[in-house]
This record gives sequence, C-alpha cells and structure tokens, in this order.
Amino acid sequence: MSGIELKPDAQGKVRDLYDLGDKLLLVATDRISAFDYVLEDEIPYKGKVLTQLSRFWFDLLADIVDNHVISTDVADLPDEFKPYEEYLDGRFMLVRKAQMYPVECIVRGYLTGSGLASYRKNGTVCGIQLPEGLTESSKLPTALFTPSTKAEIGGHDENISFDTTVDLVGEQAATTLRDLTLAVYEKAADHAAQQGIIIADTKFEFGVVDGKVILADEVLTPDSSRFWAAATYREGEVQPSFDKQFVRNWLNANWDRSGNPPHLPEDVVQKTSEKYIQAYELITGTSFQK
Ligand code: ATP
Ligand code: MG
Repeated sequence: MSGIELKPDAQGKVRDLYDLGDKLLLVATDRISAFDYVLEDEIPYKGKVLTQLSRFWFDLLADIVDNHVISTDVADLPDEFKPYEEYLDGRFMLVRKAQMYPVECIVRGYLTGSGLASYRKNGTVCGIQLPEGLTESSKLPTALFTPSTKAEIGGHDENISFDTTVDLVGEQAATTLRDLTLAVYEKAADHAAQQGIIIADTKFEFGVVDGKVILADEVLTPDSSRFWAAATYREGEVQPSFDKQFVRNWLNANWDRSGNPPHLPEDVVQKTSEKYIQAYELITGTSFQK
C-alpha cells in the first residue's frame, strides 16, 4: 500500500489533512520540497520520521505545554481509514482541532538565513536590536522570539515585531506565545545538545482548544527546524543542512531553475532518507522502526 485513496480536505507541501469535526487526521507523506517546489520523488520513511519525531518531542515537552495529540495508535483510526492502516501506521496523528493563531512562532538560538539577512541590513531581527560583530551562524546572546506571519499558499512568510504580534493576537496571547516558545526551545535545545545536535532555529504553531493554548502542528522536525551537528559547527560559515543537503546540492548542479525540477537520482533519494532517519535516531537515542 503506497498511499491512501480518500481525498484530503487540505494539503500542505508535505502533509495531508482530513477534517473529522472536532478532530483532524494529520498524515505526513514522503513528499519533499526544495527551493519552494514539491519534488516528483518521494523520500522513503520521511513522513514516518516527521510524525515519530514530533511525537517524541510532544512527550518530552508535555510538562511545559499541553499539545494537540490524541493518538498515534491505528486502533484509534476512524473506520473509513481502516483499509489504509498499513500505510498510515507510524505516519498519522489524530489531533484535537485547534483555533490556530495566525503567527508562526519562530525561535532563533543562532543567526542565519532571513535572521542574518535582516541583521546585516539594520542590526536587528524582528525589531530586536543585536550586538555588533555577529556573523553567519553566530550563537545569539540569548534565544530570540522572532515571529512571522503565516503566508497563504504561494506567498512568503514575513518577519514581524512583537508589537505587530500584539496587534494580531492581543497582548496576553502574544506574551503567552513568546514565553512558551522560548521555554519549549530551551528544553528542546538542552536535550538536543546532549545528543550532539544544535537546534539553530525552529518554528512552532500554537492554537486554542477549550480556552487553553496548546502546541499543535509538527514540532522540532528537520522540516520545521535547522539542525546542525555540534561536532562540525563553525561560526562564520554556512552549516550544512542536516537533511536536505544532498537534494539541494544535486539540484544546484543539475537544474538551472527553469521549469520544474528534474527527478532525483536513486542514490540522492537513498542518502536523504538515511539522513532523516539519522536525525531521528540521534535526537531520540533510539533506533528508528521501519
Ligand atoms: P507547508 O508546511 O507545506 O508550508 P502548511 O503548513 O500549510 O504548508 P502542512 O504543514 O502540510 O501545511 O499542514 C498543516 C496545517 O494544519 C497547517 O496549516 C497548520 O496550521 C494546521 N494545523 C496543525 N495542527 C492543527 C490543529 N491541531 N488544529 C488545526 N489546525 C492545525
Ligand atoms: Mg507546515
């Protein structure tokens, strides 16, 4: 069984969503995106890695924040999904449907990507003034809450200041989101550090269920985070991305960005699959069950 014949109610680049009233079935597929394209080729086990890694973090972080997970057990699948049990096992999450905040809660422990670009322009990230002398991949003096808007499909997320976050969700919610984001990051980064991984930055999505703020979506996966190997970290250099490096390198060498991206060679697909599995195994300290 390589897929599921029910039509999703919504589809992201990577995940399929089925609306079950007050619940959602979130299914992480093996799709991969690079340079804003969803590629033709799938990465074996990628969806299972995303789901199981999220599950690991939700459990580890549960003393800081409640989360949306109801079950990842096939016994709890609604009847219409039972025929697809084999495909869904390990890659789905049955979750509580939340009223999502329209803010991506990004936290940065290190300076790179759009954060570095903003710093180079005016010394700030999301309105936060930073010390002089920081460079590519510098560790920040303290982790920063650097929220962004959630772009519609095809759009680009835009970094926003804390004040703009207050305008969007109100002062109390903005403060809660910031405090939870920083607390969750701190605990996760401590855990990852013990496993030899730096979480350079990551994105959380929170929502409200029954008046309570909960952590939703996926958490601390290679798709929502920059993971770096602590052993090879060097300030001043772009760190290799843990997961998609083989894909990006190969596309850079074999695709001029006109038209759709070409098919990936088998060894690039295999190596990328191994990278995702390695991320899971390093972070959880357990072997990945295919
Ligand atoms: P992409 O990640 O491909 O850029 P996306 O974030 O829109 O796009 P997915 O991540 O595939 O797509 O889909 C997850 C969607 O489900 C997101 O819009 C997310 O906000 C939403 N979501 C996650 N958890 C919940 C929840 N518990 N209740 C309601 N919506 C949720
Ligand atoms: Mg998403």
